[in-house]
Amino acid sequence: MNKSQLPRKVCPVCMRSFSWRKKWQRDWAQVKYCSKRCAGNKHQTKNEYIHDFAGKKKL
Ligand SMILES: [Zn+2]
Repeated sequence: MNKSQLPRKVCPVCMRSFSWRKKWQRDWAQVKYCSKRCAGNKHQTKNEYIHDFAGKKKL
């Protein structure tokens, strides 16, 4: 049981490294994000910003 021997990746959304988890054992090669939340944030942040900006412009 050596934790440091687990493969690691860096999440491109939060820039934090995360290590292999058992739930990813089948598709570790496809895993890019540390969590579902980060995977969902991939596009969301920018769109929300634009939406908010357009709303303020109306005032
Ligand atoms: Zn992340």
